[in-house]
Order: sequence, then C-alpha cells, then structure tokens
Amino acid sequence: MTSHIRILPEEICNKIAAGEVVERPSSVVKELLENSLDAGAGEVRVDIRAGGRRLIRIVDDGEGMSRDDLFLALERHATSKLSSDEDLFRLRTLGFRGEALPSIASVSRLTLRSCPANSLEGFEIQSEGGVVKHAGVTGMARGTCIEASDLFFNTPARRKFLRRDETEFGHIADVVTKLALAHPEVHFRLEHNGKTIFDAFRQGTLAARVADLLGRPLLRDLLPLDISDGGLRLHGMISTPETNRSGTGAIYTFINGRYIRDRVVQHALLDGYRSVLEKGRYPVAILFLEMPPEEVDVNVHPTKHEVRFREQGRVHSFLSGAVRQCLKPVAWLEEAHPVAPEPTTAPPAPQSTAPIMPASAVNPYRHGVQEAMESYGRRMPTVAAPASFFSPHKATPAEAENSGFFGRLTLLGQYRRSYLLCQDGDDLVLIDQHAAHERIGFERLKKEYRDGVLERQALLFPAVIEFDYRESALLKENLAELARLGFELEPFGGRSLALKTIPRLLGEIDSERLLREVAEELAAVGKSSAVESAIEKVLAVIACHGAIRANRSLSPPEISSLLDALDQVDFKISCPHGRPVMKRLSIGEIERMFRRT
Ligand code: ADP
Ligand code: MG
Repeated sequence: MTSHIRILPEEICNKIAAGEVVERPSSVVKELLENSLDAGAGEVRVDIRAGGRRLIRIVDDGEGMSRDDLFLALERHATSKLSSDEDLFRLRTLGFRGEALPSIASVSRLTLRSCPANSLEGFEIQSEGGVVKHAGVTGMARGTCIEASDLFFNTPARRKFLRRDETEFGHIADVVTKLALAHPEVHFRLEHNGKTIFDAFRQGTLAARVADLLGRPLLRDLLPLDISDGGLRLHGMISTPETNRSGTGAIYTFINGRYIRDRVVQHALLDGYRSVLEKGRYPVAILFLEMPPEEVDVNVHPTKHEVRFREQGRVHSFLSGAVRQCLKPVAWLEEAHPVAPEPTTAPPAPQSTAPIMPASAVNPYRHGVQEAMESYGRRMPTVAAPASFFSPHKATPAEAENSGFFGRLTLLGQYRRSYLLCQDGDDLVLIDQHAAHERIGFERLKKEYRDGVLERQALLFPAVIEFDYRESALLKENLAELARLGFELEPFGGRSLALKTIPRLLGEIDSERLLREVAEELAAVGKSSAVESAIEKVLAVIACHGAIRANRSLSPPEISSLLDALDQVDFKISCPHGRPVMKRLSIGEIERMFRRT
C-alpha cells in the first residue's frame, strides 16, 4: 500500500501560516512595525494606499539586514531573536517566531530593501507570492524599507473578506496607535493615500504621546499610576470614573511592551473599578505591566495577542489592587466597602445609579468629585427630557374604555422611585419605569426614523468634537444615517467633526458622549449587518439617554401617561436592551410565598 500522508510543500506551509498571521492589512502593519521596533528604530514611517490593499510601506532607520540575512528573513522559522528553547521564556523582543515575513510574502508582492550600519550600499529582493523574482544592490540610507502590495492577490477568497478602505485603514490606525503608545521614544508617521494622518514626534513621556494620539482634552481626565510590588510593576494612566465608555475600545494594555488583550488583565482592571463605574461602562486605560519574562508565556497565539501567566491569581490581585489604590483619592470606595478586607474576597458592591456622596470632606479630592458628579447629573437628559414625553393628558371616558392593558391597571404606588406597583385583577404587576420609558422612546424614534420626520434643532455654535481615528472613521462612514437621526455632522479636519444639529427630541444632552457610544455601537455591529439593525442599535442608545432614569418620583398623571404611552407601542415586554419591562406575581404565587395554601 502506498501512503496517503504527505509532507506539505514549503509554499503551502507559508500560506497556512499566513492564514493565522495575516488576517487583514492591519496585521501586516503590526508585524512589520514590530520588526522595526525590534531593530531599534528611532523613526518609522508608515505609508498606506487604499486601506492597505494596494500598498503597505514601512520605512525604518533601524539596524538593517545584510544581503544574506535578507534572503534568510524570507525563510520560514528564520529569526535572529531566538537561539535556544530557553530563550522562549526570556523574550525581550516583540517577534520570535520567524513567521511574519514568509507569511506576508506568500500572500503579496513584497519588496525588501535593507542596509546595515557598516555597509555602503543596500540590497533589495522582490518576491511575488513568496517566489523571488529579482535581487540586487540598491542605494539607500541605513535601515529597512518593506513594501507589501496587492495583498491577497493570489488568495481571492481572503480578499473577499476585506472591508471598505476606510474600515481597513481604521484598523491600521488602531494598530499604529497601540504600538506608538508603547514607544513614545520613537517617531511615528502615518500616511494614507499621501495624506498625513499623524506625525507623532519623539516624546519623553507617555502623557505627551497620549495627547498626540488620543487628544489633549482626554489627558485632563486621566490619572497617572505607577505601582510596584514583588517584581511586578504597573504604570500608565487610567481614567477617573466620570470618564468612561460603553465598550472596551479605549482600554490599551501592554505586557512587557507588547500590546495584549487578555481576559485576566481586563477582568482585574474592571475589578479595580468595581462600584465606582456604572454597570456596562468601561474606563479609558493605557497600562503597562512589567514582569519577569519567565513569568509570562506569550507564545500561546500566533498573533501573540493573548498570554498565559504562571501565577494568574497573583497578577490579578496586584492589578486590581493597584487600580483601586490609584482611584482611592477620587473615589468613594471606603464608603462602599466599610469593612471589606480584600478586593478578591469582598462581595460585589451593590450597583447604584446615583452614588451617595457624603458631605464630609474627608479627603481633598472629594469636593472636586462631588462637583463633577453634580455637573454630570446636570448634563444627563433626565432632567430635561421627561417634559417632552409627558405631555399631561387627561383621558376622556371614551379613551379610557379603549385603553389597553397598561392603561387599565390599577396603580398602587411607586416603589423606591423606580418601580410602579399595579394591580391587574388579582395579580400584582411590577413595572420598571426606566425600561418602560426606554422602550417607548425607542419605538417612537423608530417610527419617526421610518417616516423620516425626526425634528432637528440647530446648535447656536457648532460643537467641534475630536474623536480618535476609529471613532471618527466610523462616524464619517455613517454621516447620512446620523443626519437622518438628527445629528448633522461635518468633517472638520483630521479626526474632528463639527456637530451642527441634534434631534430636538433629546433636549439637552451630552452629545459627545452619545456620539462616542454611537461609534462604539457601530463598531460592534459591523458593516456587514443590515443598516436597519445598526440604526436600531443607535436608536436604543438614544432612547436610553432620553429615558427617565430609575430613582425619580413620578406624579400620578405622569404615571398614567407613561402607562398609556406603553399601550401605544409594540414590543412592550422588554426594553430595547432586552431587560424586562414588567413582572407579574399571581395571587397564587403570593399565597405560596406566605404558605397560605
Ligand atoms: P521574527 O520577527 O519573528 O524574528 P520575521 O519573519 O518577522 O520573524 O523577521 C525575520 C527576521 O528578519 C527577524 O528576526 C530580523 O532579524 C529580520 N528583520 C525583519 N524586519 C527587520 C527590520 N525592519 N530591520 C531589521 N531586521 C529585520
Ligand atoms: Mg517579526
């Protein structure tokens, strides 16, 4: 019998590796930039054409490669960064698998040009789909220039997965931002289609780099942090609790200089914020964890985004403890956990939408925070919005007869200024007033959106808002839809957008916060899903902002108009986020509770 099993040829191995390493243009940028940083570059230029599908060019002034090394670099498992298996646990470099260049070469037309320090001329290799087509000397300054063009030209199936240029470029900007945050000492320049997107000069501090990349205004709301304990060090910046996002998009975490997205790290960070951040809100964080390389295994994933810790528990409690310690001066942790000994053993603090701020000025920050919380409260729409929703309206007898389920309920009262207690026949009905109002607002917005009659209100002075690259790209892609929703935005140079109108329905709102949420929602929904469902997600966010919160006492006429409005809309069973609007307890259930049956 002949054997069925074959050893795969090199070319196929490279394409398989490329499947893991090169998901999209931004993966190429990540690998090439990491190589430049490993080569000790002081300046890196990134030129992108057509979202990276046409061209990705990275030029650095690092140590360069000799002619022989250039050929070797294209071989699989060829690296200058490892020599023994022990090195795997002592990594100081970003790369080490020796897979990136051959993988990229196998799915693109690749040109490598390099000139090491002691050499008078450089050398150049051109390859197509991993096959060398040309090699020869070339004149150039010290460093390396790598050009990957026509990505996936020989793998059409992969090419089909690419999104619009702007979306792909958004991912690239994200990758460059992450690496640039980790290396303020390196000059990063990013261009798209010949236009400079950013030019981040060498900086002495992380704060200066954060200002360059994420915007100077954000800096005001970030707290510096630098805490060490038993070989572990955490440094960087985290946001005050009032500055938060609806997703994890603004959390940047690095381990030993490498950007990672790790479950343990993220969980520990959020644990540090527990009880100071509203449920479902996430901080802004740029955090660097330094630890002995042998304590962490980065070789668990081809893109090296995930890691494994030797002592996961210790890392977790160090991180959450450090975050807590940093937040302490501005937070009310002590009040929330009067006797809690350790973050890991303490029970989760009760979620409260309105934090209690004791008047006693125990610590110097308290006053500032209280002020911030108060102004935050003022910015929320809860104060202004209900008026527009509760146009008091007395039901005529005829209307009362026609009224639906909710309108016919007998109102018993309001519980904890958040729930309506009603009676339906013999049943007890509990209604979550916030969820109910959210659903009403959502259904109304949906109807107005479908009818195209959403009323706008022009701002006296257009508000210029600076977003990060990803946010601004997503918003720019959706200007027409946003305008339909009453948010007329105009590109205002770079990452800024000028806001000219808002939906009248929303009254006074924190538009910046809302638009960031909209961008995050759009990112989460993705371009492939129907516009309609993306819009509905946005509407749900808007409805939530416009809705009355829990913790507000309602007058009887307000309650009855809320119940009547609930009858007018579809899907009244849950709020747009899926939380229930109503719960029913039958007399039987209540009697069983009191053992009366
Ligand atoms: P790895 O980074 O895992 O070693 P790569 O395939 O990314 O594998 O690169 C292979 C080798 O090519 C690297 O080990 C390095 O020696 C060399 N190299 C790649 N890019 C550069 C660069 N920009 N400057 C200098 N050397 C480079
Ligand atoms: Mg590499």
